[in-house]
Amino acid sequence: MPGRDDMSAEDRLIARFFQPLATHPGALGLSDDAAFLTPPPDCDLVLKTDAIVGGVHFFPEDAAHSVAGKALRVNLSDLAAKGARPLGFLLSLALPKDVGDEWLEGFAQGLRGDSVLFSCPLFGGDTDRTPGPITVSIAMFGAVPEGTMVRRAGAKAGDHVFVSGTIGDATLGLMMRKGKDWNLAEEQRQHLVSRYLLPQPRNALAEAVRTHASAAMDISDGLVGDFSKLCRASGVAATIDVPRIPLSDAAKAAAAAEPEAIDSVLTGGDDYEIVCTVPPAKADSFRTAARGSGVAVTEIGEIKAGEGARFLAGDGRALTFKRTSFSHF
Ligand SMILES: [Mg+2]
Repeated sequence: MPGRDDMSAEDRLIARFFQPLATHPGALGLSDDAAFLTPPPDCDLVLKTDAIVGGVHFFPEDAAHSVAGKALRVNLSDLAAKGARPLGFLLSLALPKDVGDEWLEGFAQGLRGDSVLFSCPLFGGDTDRTPGPITVSIAMFGAVPEGTMVRRAGAKAGDHVFVSGTIGDATLGLMMRKGKDWNLAEEQRQHLVSRYLLPQPRNALAEAVRTHASAAMDISDGLVGDFSKLCRASGVAATIDVPRIPLSDAAKAAAAAEPEAIDSVLTGGDDYEIVCTVPPAKADSFRTAARGSGVAVTEIGEIKAGEGARFLAGDGRALTFKRTSFSHF
């Protein structure tokens, strides 16, 4: 943030829209050149950055408050999967010149709502004009007791594989926004579209993941591709029983109308659920802890020795996919 005496347009914008989010004393009300943060005692900081870009991760016409929510939540989702609790974030905004105060008002409102909801205050930021699309970059920091961040590597043969929530909703919601129609009930359509618009990061599950999981990651680019990365990092194989993968009623209805949609469910992006592996001795305790957190978890398979994750259909045949995960490049 600028520390000039004259009140520039950027200063005014920050004072009006973003100072109210800077509730941590170390943020100094966004009035200094930098902020400071004393890590909680005996904790590691967990660091994450992710940007979302108009026309790539959201539609330019999406409401500003949900763009803000999505930007924050994709980062919160990673912290949750690493077992970390959020401490705060930094924001970089690049805005085309036709984006004015009305959009910023909605954006700041959405950001404020979620920063309160997830106890994650703003520590600083930067805004610039850009000839390109709206770009919202967030750097987030969280904390875990020293040495306990849950990694991708760590899964062992025999571990149970769990996922949170339901899989595939957001990608089906995106397909609907691009014109796909499975003759769903209005409530089902709304469910899928809202899951694309605003992720529901599983931060309530973070402590259960931290204390039980041998490996974990959030699912942002599709279950098949992301879980395969976890298996590669851990040097293990796995079998996943596709019929056990939890689907919402809306996703089930879409898959009933078009069986090929299951391919998108498994390889599409934007789930922001957690996939984790739990040693057999801890599986019951994990289920109990998850129930206590209010986040549904479902066991979908098992880690094996070897390499490669196999996704088995109901008849035991291994599925193959046209593409295994969403890639922006
Ligand atoms: Mg991730």
